Amino acid sequence: MIHALGRHVLIELHDCQQQHLNDVAAIERHMIAAAHAAGATVINTTFHHFAPMGVSGVVVIQESHLAIHTWPEQNFAAIDIFTCGENVDPWRAVSYLKRAFQAQKGDAREIPRGEIPNLPTPTHNYPSPSQPIQHNLWFTERSDNLALSLRHSGVVYQTQSPYQKIEVLNTAGYGRMLVLDGQIMCTEKDECVYHEMLVHVPTLLHTNPQKILVIGGGDGGAIRELTRHPNIQHIDLVEIDEMVVQTARQYLPTLSSQLNNKRVHIHIQDGTQFVKTAPEKTYDIILIDIPGVDALQSQTFYQAIYRTLKENGIMVAQIAPPVFFDPNFPKTIEAQKHVFQTVHPYFAFIPTYATGMLSFSLASKNHIQPTQIFDEHKAKRFTTTHPLQYYTTEIHKASFAIPPFVQTLLTSGEPS
Ligand code: SAM
Repeated sequence: MIHALGRHVLIELHDCQQQHLNDVAAIERHMIAAAHAAGATVINTTFHHFAPMGVSGVVVIQESHLAIHTWPEQNFAAIDIFTCGENVDPWRAVSYLKRAFQAQKGDAREIPRGEIPNLPTPTHNYPSPSQPIQHNLWFTERSDNLALSLRHSGVVYQTQSPYQKIEVLNTAGYGRMLVLDGQIMCTEKDECVYHEMLVHVPTLLHTNPQKILVIGGGDGGAIRELTRHPNIQHIDLVEIDEMVVQTARQYLPTLSSQLNNKRVHIHIQDGTQFVKTAPEKTYDIILIDIPGVDALQSQTFYQAIYRTLKENGIMVAQIAPPVFFDPNFPKTIEAQKHVFQTVHPYFAFIPTYATGMLSFSLASKNHIQPTQIFDEHKAKRFTTTHPLQYYTTEIHKASFAIPPFVQTLLTSGEPS
């Protein structure tokens, strides 16, 4: 007589509710519940969420596995359940999952695995494991050639604003993380690198910064750092999406702590329009703290920034990192050079940005040389009176050093 070692059920779930197929924490819960419904013993799980959408995950059970891959944009999930032993019924898991994902259409078929003649009937039951389930939920930000994954314990908050999908995730190693349209914006643990370098490099180069404009930056991190400087009297924060500010106030208090500071004036508006109509020669420093590349490669945008800056004004922008295969870094610098003539890239190192190489560019109307005019004594006095975590005077100077591959990118204008 022929017996099979295992039962493999392949399930196609069509016309599911889209939101059910993109919520990694809920999918993990359903897959564990399906394993329990089948009578299986769960050992551990690994689930990844991919940006912008889709989830892959596996539940390892003592009796084999359950796996799922979702395509929310197609309302489709592919699931397989492999069980062995007499005590589990994979079809009970199938019924549970059809209900959980509210599939309107579906198909499931069983394939016997490992058909062996005269297989002896198993004589023992597996013992229950004493260890608790190890959960492995992963968020993955993926571009064409590179992916960055962070382990997390679930979504703390998510909403769809008129501009973007806003999520706050609880990461295992980096505290809470703000994600906009699937792109990592910052994490509580390492945002200090980004915000200290965005803010203190220009503010300590300027002789007397009093009026500042921040474009984007609704999380409040740049504002928190700016308010450390007592000579700054007025900060305009122009953020397009009010719901980012609300989210930061509620879920990211360490970033948003100074948004209520009396010197801060919040404008909910498109920053590219704001600078077009702002009065001429208004700001000492303009910080561009927005994701994406469109505005950052627009000469018209930089012309408006130039016009709005005072004669000794400085602009700093966070820009795409220099990578061998991506033209965005040289293109952005080129667009800025058309308006400012001299542009100085500078770098910092941060684990939660793809490539790890955080990149900024600094330009001024009066062509300052950032390493030559740097008043180290003034900067040292500042760093010794504030609990900074990344910026030092040495890092300030070193950040303007340009690796040869970046120099090549800048000279040729083409990725090598
Ligand atoms: N650390 C960041 C990164 O990874 O690029 C930037 C963080 S900050 C939260 C970016 C903010 O810029 C977002 O809240 C987004 O809504 C805002 N933003 C995008 N385009 C904008 C525009 N044209 N004007 C004003 N704000 C904008």
